[in-house]
Amino acid sequence: MPLKSQGPRPLIDPFGRVIDYVRLSVTDRCNLRCTYCMSERMQFLPRKDLLTLEEMDRLASVFVTRGVTHLRLTGGEPLMRRCVMDLFKSLSRHLRSGSLKELTLTTNGVRLAEFAEDLAAAGVRRINVSVDSLDRAAFARIARGDRLGRVLDGIAAARKAGLRVKINTVALRNDNARELPDIIRWAHELGMDMSLIETMPLGAVDEDRTDQFLSLAAVKRDLQSYWTLTELPDRTGGPSRYVRIAETGGRLGFITPLSHNFCDSCRRMRITCTGTLFMCLGQEDSVDLRAPLRSGASDGELNLAIDRAVAAKPKSHDFVLPVRGAGPALARHMSITGG
Ligand code: SAM
Ligand code: SF4
Repeated sequence: MPLKSQGPRPLIDPFGRVIDYVRLSVTDRCNLRCTYCMSERMQFLPRKDLLTLEEMDRLASVFVTRGVTHLRLTGGEPLMRRCVMDLFKSLSRHLRSGSLKELTLTTNGVRLAEFAEDLAAAGVRRINVSVDSLDRAAFARIARGDRLGRVLDGIAAARKAGLRVKINTVALRNDNARELPDIIRWAHELGMDMSLIETMPLGAVDEDRTDQFLSLAAVKRDLQSYWTLTELPDRTGGPSRYVRIAETGGRLGFITPLSHNFCDSCRRMRITCTGTLFMCLGQEDSVDLRAPLRSGASDGELNLAIDRAVAAKPKSHDFVLPVRGAGPALARHMSITGG
């Protein structure tokens, strides 16, 4: 007998975690080539493999009916996706209805100045912008693109449009380790929260990530030698833990999937730009939602596929600290799943 969908109900995994946060990658393409994220000669997916904006809207909306209250659009570089503002505008109906509490964006900021006002008009209230260095040469080396000026203009435009900006910085042993306190001070002086991220072994890149891996436990110890860090209870349903720095007055997050994992409280799932649902950033288990979408599946059938995925959400990821010469733990790049 065919299984019957029981209609909208919350997404609860076998470990009792309620999934209310979805990250949707709207493109795998990018206008930068950050060394830790992708190869200089990155091969992008054929366009026909990417979900259309209408398919993304439908999928996101099904998740909203299942109790997802936080939706983040990411990539690749989401602002590179043609007509992406149409998707923001369309999804904003869920903000107006109250079903969605938050619609957010993670961007490299290069095109942010063009879109900041439209994002605010669509109901986006806060965004994450990745900035790995405030030094023009270092930024250009890490991102393989001399775009720091454009990113800073984008951040200024976003703040002017009333968006709250959080800065994301990947900690890199060779490229920005010594600069991290300056970036923190800069962000906090402008009233922006900031998060530090450990490099994760996702997808092949041109260098050995071991050379650049910097444990945030070590960074934290270093910061504590001259600043007063107070742990905060704030949680975002992911592998991030926050402190307040007395001297700067700002909040600093540590995203430490490797040196520490916080999978117990994970309430996230990720959808790739090709419609594959990943239950965990660090595991291969996935469910394809594009095939049912493209073969005319009803919402009930999509819900059944989503139920199967939630039932298979792993307890935790299997990342291990990097071993010199080892390939990536997972072949898929962060730009496919979305950071
Ligand atoms: N292009 C946008 C950006 O850079 O913000 C959004 C997508 S990017 C994949 C999202 C976040 O993932 C960025 O903050 C980026 O620094 C981070 N990231 C990418 N590859 C990573 C890796 N291998 N390890 C840790 N963080 C990574
Ligand atoms: Fe592009 Fe973001 Fe990856 Fe950098 S981290 S290459 S900006 S997707």
